[in-house]
This record gives sequence, structure tokens and C-alpha cells, in this order.
Amino acid sequence: MSDCLFCKIAAGEIPAEKVYEDDDVIAFNDINPQAPTHVLIIPKSHIATTNDIAPEDEKVVGKLLTTAAKIAKDRGIDASGYRSVMNCNADAGQMVFHVHLHMLGGRKMSWPPG
Ligand code: 5GP
Ligand code: ZN
Repeated sequence: MSDCLFCKIAAGEIPAEKVYEDDDVIAFNDINPQAPTHVLIIPKSHIATTNDIAPEDEKVVGKLLTTAAKIAKDRGIDASGYRSVMNCNADAGQMVFHVHLHMLGGRKMSWPPG
């Protein structure tokens, strides 16, 4: 998608603080972090919302979570815990319409979310 911010980050056309990359996914620091660790993990392929995840995307979407666990382990917050969030559409506050997993950690989180 030529007009998508996260496609541009995945293509290296817009800079980001990359923390992990492989053939399928890329992870980078959120520009407006809400926790000491706030990483966005995205599929390199464009998927607009979680409503648009097709059966053939299930593997890469699962990889968003295994990548979150890998980053948590690298940072030593796997045991203390972290939160994985995927916002979908307006009521959840989705701002960027390319599926992304927020991985937040390094502080105690409250529940329920706002
Ligand atoms: P959403 O509300 O769509 O779930 O989350 C979008 C996230 O993307 C927000 O947390 C926001 O801070 C982050 N974000 C928006 N623009 C940029 C950008 O240009 N670079 C980075 N690294 N993060 C961004
Ligand atoms: Zn995109």
C-alpha cells in the first residue's frame, strides 16, 4: 500500500527505531511510548485491521506474538510480564490502519484498559 505509514516504515522509506526484523515482521519503538518498553510489531504485508486477517495471514499474525515474547525475553521482562494489544477501528482507538501489535512492558499495568 503506497499510502500506508507502516508499509513505508517496513520498506525503510520512513525511519523508525527498529528492534527486530525478519522476512515476515518488523518491530520498532512506538514514537509516543506509553511504557518503558512500547514496541510495535507489524506484518510486512499490508493488512488494514484485524477484521481483514485472512486464513493465509494466520501464520504471520501468530508471529507477532512470538516476536513479542522474544523481545520480552531479550529485555528481561518476560517473567515480570507485559501486555499485547491490537486495536481495531474507532472504538478501540485504532489510528494507523496497518495491523500492529503493541507490546508494552516495564511497568505495572492496570485493568480494565481505558
Ligand atoms: P493505534 O492507535 O493505531 O493502535 O496505534 C498507532 C501507534 O502508532 C500509536 O501508539 C502511535 O504513537 C504510533 N505511531 C504513529 N505514527 C508513528 C510513526 O511515525 N512512527 C512510530 N514509530 N510510531 C508511530
Ligand atoms: Zn500498510
